[in-house]
Amino acid sequence: MTTLRTRMNLRVSLEAAYRSGASIGLVPTMGSLHQGHLSLVHAAREECEIVVVSLFVNPTQFKPGEDFSGYPRDENRDAELLTEAGTDFLYAPDIGEIYPDGFSTRVEVDGLTEMLCGDPESRGTEHFRGVTTVVAKLFNSVSPTHAYFGQKDAQQAAVITRMTRDLNFPVEIRVLPTIRESDGLAMSSRNAYLSPDDRVRAVALSRALKAAADVTPVVSLGAGIEAAMQTLADAGIEPEYLEARDAIDLSPVAEANGRPILIAVAAQVGRARLIDNVLIHPSNQTTAPGAVSEEQMS
Ligand code: AMP
Repeated sequence: MTTLRTRMNLRVSLEAAYRSGASIGLVPTMGSLHQGHLSLVHAAREECEIVVVSLFVNPTQFKPGEDFSGYPRDENRDAELLTEAGTDFLYAPDIGEIYPDGFSTRVEVDGLTEMLCGDPESRGTEHFRGVTTVVAKLFNSVSPTHAYFGQKDAQQAAVITRMTRDLNFPVEIRVLPTIRESDGLAMSSRNAYLSPDDRVRAVALSRALKAAADVTPVVSLGAGIEAAMQTLADAGIEPEYLEARDAIDLSPVAEANGRPILIAVAAQVGRARLIDNVLIHPSNQTTAPGAVSEEQMS
């Protein structure tokens, strides 16, 4: 694996791939890698001739007072894991490479970014503006044929899918299932913030979603949400949000309507702000998230 710090070196390294028309898979990350990230790298390795992983803790997607400065960073360990996973290139640019002096352009997706994590009470639309701006830059820097994202960040995946379509980025977006610890907790770099007691409580998020997914098909969506709220309350967790949304356009859903439903939760557990979600398919079966695309729904 070769580590590259500048866009210019990246382009030079990929020149042969561009010329031959080889498929290039990009996995954007903020590092502190776990099996969730690596599942994306493995998928890219299977589907693409060249695998590029980016590592950039993007300051513009953190609110003032959020965990930007304390975000876990361990590039050497990440590089080892990525080498083992068969990555060809690690693109780990310095901040000035992404945001040079005078940087003044933003990419913004309306609508989808204004609820859930984009609510002003939550992380706000600025969070997604930071994400879409940096991902657009990564797409233009790497020119991948495929890009890989996790269903764990369902709203982010929906926003990036919409940006890609709206701006005609010639890249196929792949959204892959959430990888979980054995007790169900969604893997996250932020799980490192959990104290032992909070780690035990944190499993309530995935339990709550499972309760919602179990109850909804046999009773109603309202009862499913109630069951989830109760599970969280039993663990002493008050969610930042727990909402049912259309899985594709994220519009609010009050009752099952024949389209896949996303139930998404965010909650502060001790020092960690955690998010998780589950997809409920119209066939009444809850399947591993990640199986729905705009193409399939149109
Ligand atoms: P991050 O480093 O948190 O920005 O995440 C980089 C990518 O990994 C994003 O596309 C995330 O959705 C994805 N990801 C994070 N956690 C998981 C997980 N537990 N399972 C699958 N994908 C994940």
